[in-house]
Amino acid sequence: MIDVPPPALAYIGLGSNLDTPRDQIRRALAALARLPLSELAASSPLYASSPVGPQDQPDFVNAVAAIRTRLSPLALLDQLQVLEQRHRRVRLRRWGPRTLDLDLLWYAGVTLETPRLRLPHPEMRRRRFVLEPLAEIAPNLELDGETTTLLASRLTDQPLRRLDS
Ligand code: AMP
Repeated sequence: MIDVPPPALAYIGLGSNLDTPRDQIRRALAALARLPLSELAASSPLYASSPVGPQDQPDFVNAVAAIRTRLSPLALLDQLQVLEQRHRRVRLRRWGPRTLDLDLLWYAGVTLETPRLRLPHPEMRRRRFVLEPLAEIAPNLELDGETTTLLASRLTDQPLRRLDS
């Protein structure tokens, strides 16, 4: 009998603030469900958040998805970047508006520090628009020994607005 390793659980952060952002996020969630060697395990509700950095841009729509995947972390990042390109991602400046931003937040507890991929995502602990939706689908997930729920409750930046769908 051949031993097939179980799929890895991974969390992905989604954000968009251009070209009907809710549709971008919904389409991206559907595309994540179709990734090779992967299945969508859960997705958070959609939230609206004020932009980080320059304020002269539309609000963001954010969500977090959980997938089970047999792709390696780098192969998954490749796939996420293909999806970003397919959504004709526009990125004119750092922290500026974009059609679709996909961040690999966490992959099976793996820690990685390479130029292309850092895991867990270095900014996630500080971002309410990541931690709140993540805590909704993974309330007991621990980052450095602290749950997403506790980390989210400590953040004091502007509250998110939960969208109907
Ligand atoms: P940004 O568009 O600001 O999300 O940054 C994308 C860049 O960050 C790409 O060059 C990625 O290779 C790199 N990167 C490093 N770690 C990650 C990660 N965990 N998820 C997504 N992109 C990452």
